[in-house]
Amino acid sequence: MPDKITIGGVSVDTRHWIGGQRVASAETFSDSSPIDGGTLGEIARGGPAEADAAVAAARDAFPAWAATPRAERARILHAIADGVEKRIEDLAIVETTDNGALLRSHRRGVMPRVAHNFRFFADWLLSLEHEDFDTRGHRNHVSWDPAGPCVLITPWNAPLMLATWKVAPALAAGNTVVLKPAEWSPLTASLLADIAAAAGLPAGVLNVVQGYGAEIGDALTSHPDVRRISFTGSVPTAKHIAASAAANLTPLSLELGGKSPLLVFADADLDLAVDLAVEQYDNAGQVCLAATRILVEDTIAEEFTRRFVDKATTLRQGDPRDEATDIGPNIHARQLEKIDGFVQRALEAGARAVTGGHRGDGQYYAPTLLTDVAQDSEIVQEEVFGPVLTLQTFTTEDEAVALANGTRFGLAATLATGDPERAERVTARLVAGTVWVNCFFVRDLQAPFGGSRLSGVGREGGTWSFDFYCDLKNTVTAPNGFTDHG
Ligand code: NAD
Repeated sequence: MPDKITIGGVSVDTRHWIGGQRVASAETFSDSSPIDGGTLGEIARGGPAEADAAVAAARDAFPAWAATPRAERARILHAIADGVEKRIEDLAIVETTDNGALLRSHRRGVMPRVAHNFRFFADWLLSLEHEDFDTRGHRNHVSWDPAGPCVLITPWNAPLMLATWKVAPALAAGNTVVLKPAEWSPLTASLLADIAAAAGLPAGVLNVVQGYGAEIGDALTSHPDVRRISFTGSVPTAKHIAASAAANLTPLSLELGGKSPLLVFADADLDLAVDLAVEQYDNAGQVCLAATRILVEDTIAEEFTRRFVDKATTLRQGDPRDEATDIGPNIHARQLEKIDGFVQRALEAGARAVTGGHRGDGQYYAPTLLTDVAQDSEIVQEEVFGPVLTLQTFTTEDEAVALANGTRFGLAATLATGDPERAERVTARLVAGTVWVNCFFVRDLQAPFGGSRLSGVGREGGTWSFDFYCDLKNTVTAPNGFTDHG
């Protein structure tokens, strides 16, 4: 079986990267492109043996990396960022071919952000001040010790971007890493291994293992040498991982799904509100943060819906490599079936498709807006992860807040309102890790990111990432070096 896949002239190694070596598995699995469903090639199919080897490599490399001066760690992370920047075109075409998201977004937004993730956490590391407190003459000195080998497990909807949110702070903090990308989008993680090695990251500090979560996952998440697990993905997988990690009480960070609301008040700039709503079809709706539940004040619902449909029907769906395309394919035939199942069950239950409501050609789903949906219905309560939005109306602010908070999730919420006092009032009552007011998706890397309720445990970003990836230590020294029991 060949060890490489070539996409647009870019060669991607399909084996694991363990201890600075490419390692094959006896078995492989097929990777296909959502653009046409065609097979791209065979990927190493790891299991417990590969998991053990990768964790052992991370464990062996840990002491030296943890002891590497901060300035040197930061220098290598900047060199990785340089490597990403040099290969933006390569990374963009490989990611688009593998997961179907727009090439123009990968080129201009996602891959530059990947580089920025490394630079940001390198700089953050250098700016980290050890804190000192004084208690009755005793010096309390707080330090961030690296935790050890970290297992990082990522989904397919934004593969490299989400992986580097974890890899960059974990490495910056002095940890070693075993990264397990999703089996539907395994390729850019392999390129990252090449880039990191070329940047001088020592062998074993970053390891990449490929395979099905069900086959390699438990061996990683129940491993006694693993000190942190960071997972982005679905709620059922998170519950499984939490149970597996419980064997060693391994600390977990969980970034999970959402069913976020967009609240449109009658005092909103309607053009902006429509733009925000249509934006929710980005990445073919495969965005954890997507505001898939549009809640509109009843007095403007008709006008909003008319303008929404006018705008949504101008979106161009097609090949994600084409610069003119607005919406690409969905990741996999199985995901498409799942999406269509949700929509058909909603229609059978009495929902009305104002637009869409059916499959397109190939792996494409028609951008869909469903009305006449009940708050307790499946389509309002469950994450679809496709280009499917629902629209409900409200009369009062109280009702809007109750609908917005009325699911098991709490990842994000977006408000469209022209009244700053209302924005403040409503924001204070929303259960959400991020609230956007008259905007969407923008976030400073210093700010926390994560969800409440079933949307997750913990936060990523700035200081929250370092707190997670470090063992915080308080060293208390007696005055003048004498012991004082007090
Ligand atoms: P998933 O849970 O099916 O898979 C995610 C990862 O977990 C994959 O790498 C998979 O191989 C692995 N996995 C599967 N079973 C495992 C096991 N038993 N042990 C260890 N690992 C295992 O999720 P998905 O379908 O790839 O991604 C979509 C989900 O991710 C959606 O729910 C979406 O909302 C969520 N998501 C959340 C965020 C966020 O930051 N909150 C971002 C993107 C996606």
